[in-house]
Amino acid sequence: MGFRTLELKMKTDYGPDDLKNVIRKICRVRDFDYVIEKQSLDGRNPMEIHWLVRLTVISPEIKGGTEPDISSIKVPFKRTTKKVLVIGSGPAGFFAAYVCLMGGLDVTLVEMGPDVYQRTKDLKEFERTGVLNERSNYAYGEGGAGTFSDGKLTSRTKSIMREKRFIFEQYVKAGAPEEILYLAKPHLGSNILTKVVKNLRQEFIDRGGNLIFNNKLLDIKFKNGRAVSAETEQGVIDADYFIVAVGHSSYDTYRMLINNGVQFITKNFAIGTRVEHYQEIINRAKWRTPSLPGVKAADYSLTYNFDQMFSVYSFCMCPGGKVVPAPPIAGLNIVNGMSNYKRNYPFANSAIVAGINIADLAGRELEPLESLDWLLTLERKFYEFSNSYNAPAVKVSDFLKGRTTASFGKHSYPFELMTADFRELFPQKITDSMALALKDFMHKIWGFEEGTMMGLESRTSSPIQLVRDGMLCAGFENLYFAGEGSGLAGGIVSSAADGIKCAMDVVDSIV
Ligand SMILES: Cc1cc2nc3c(=O)[nH]c(=O)nc-3n(C[C@H](O)[C@H](O)[C@H](O)COP(=O)(O)OP(=O)(O)OC[C@H]3O[C@@H](n4cnc5c(N)ncnc54)[C@H](O)[C@@H]3O)c2cc1C
Repeated sequence: MGFRTLELKMKTDYGPDDLKNVIRKICRVRDFDYVIEKQSLDGRNPMEIHWLVRLTVISPEIKGGTEPDISSIKVPFKRTTKKVLVIGSGPAGFFAAYVCLMGGLDVTLVEMGPDVYQRTKDLKEFERTGVLNERSNYAYGEGGAGTFSDGKLTSRTKSIMREKRFIFEQYVKAGAPEEILYLAKPHLGSNILTKVVKNLRQEFIDRGGNLIFNNKLLDIKFKNGRAVSAETEQGVIDADYFIVAVGHSSYDTYRMLINNGVQFITKNFAIGTRVEHYQEIINRAKWRTPSLPGVKAADYSLTYNFDQMFSVYSFCMCPGGKVVPAPPIAGLNIVNGMSNYKRNYPFANSAIVAGINIADLAGRELEPLESLDWLLTLERKFYEFSNSYNAPAVKVSDFLKGRTTASFGKHSYPFELMTADFRELFPQKITDSMALALKDFMHKIWGFEEGTMMGLESRTSSPIQLVRDGMLCAGFENLYFAGEGSGLAGGIVSSAADGIKCAMDVVDSIV
């Protein structure tokens, strides 16, 4: 059997038969199989947008060549009675628990929210009544913050290629489309993610994992640098290893860990707003046409750097998506973005955020807990402005002219938009930086000024960062903090990969 790698340019709506015909023509083979390694959209020339497809043809009619490297992590199985307790069922916690189970450990996974079915109902109720369930919302519940998200599975970190392959393989087994294995910008959307989360849970239970919903970690007891037991709402749980993976919004868990000697430092993070446009504006700006066969919806990625100002960039862009209210607890007004697999809502939204230095804004260096309080104060200010989850908003064009907006037309946000002066809500250096950047973005995306800035986007990453020794919490022998809450990972894939790395450290430490 031989291998031949091809780099092909394919039209945007090509199908498997087109690909096979091209392979037959180039390789002159009849009996073959192929593996697509990467597929990305080349939109540099809007008049000739196409897919770039890299694939390897495998055939007995080809001599030599190299087999494609698509290997994922290998989890060694240990005969052991060791127990691990994992807290949080987001991407980091779930994959940490799953890998520990594959490694032969006795695994208990504790999640303070309900299962994904109940969570779907709770979200509908929140958007109907405006009453937030503090255990079951866009941030909390089975699957973590990643479940009702845009479901972009992109990650630029090169050092997690094998973990990434492992994650995608599990997703595909659990019902995700195979294309995520090769697309340069893989995307699932909330409707597929909810199904995947449910199927992965069943696989975890079938393999012997113990999963407890509606149970919150309250405290951890330590003895001589070792965690010995966890106090949860449903009782005390002993274990040999503890992996905390509670995301970046569980501030009471941060406080408990810091009180127990777990070390964090403050770090830079980003704050801004969601900007929403009609998707057609973005499609026309990027493709010069309102739609492109075979491609769901156009996206964009923007950055602007200016001396003495914060850099401003687009983050978590959701083509064909919706802006959603994503506070983890009541009384905070925070927005985020989501979409479904088809990306077929008529709107495109993206966070437009300023990468801030908190000491610069606060006027002095802040301790980790002070950083969390600083952020909470801003999130409460946005809530108090509307005394609800209605989003303070302004059109980009009005913001740039220094005025408020009289009325907003159609939008995707489930609550109302309330006309607001963002210069009164945000620290001045943020609005000054955003104003400079938005002027630049108007030249990069035609019609950008027609967008609406809505709400506060404040939870793009953790404002604090864990101090690690290897993968462990520094100073502790058996305590890990995995995922986005550690401040060392961000997004679904890198958080899941961080959970896997913590779990592999546990498995490898067992002799
Ligand atoms: C609306 C939205 C859209 C997003 N879109 C994308 C996207 O398209 N692509 C992307 O890569 N990222 C996206 N993100 C970010 C992504 O979801 C997170 O980076 C990722 O989920 C972090 O994973 P994690 O496991 O570290 O933490 P989380 O997903 O936050 O999971 C933490 C879990 O711990 C539980 N928990 C917290 N405290 C406790 C406690 N004390 N006891 C027990 N359980 C506890 C929570 O209920 C939660 O389930 C989005 C986030 C949101 C909110």
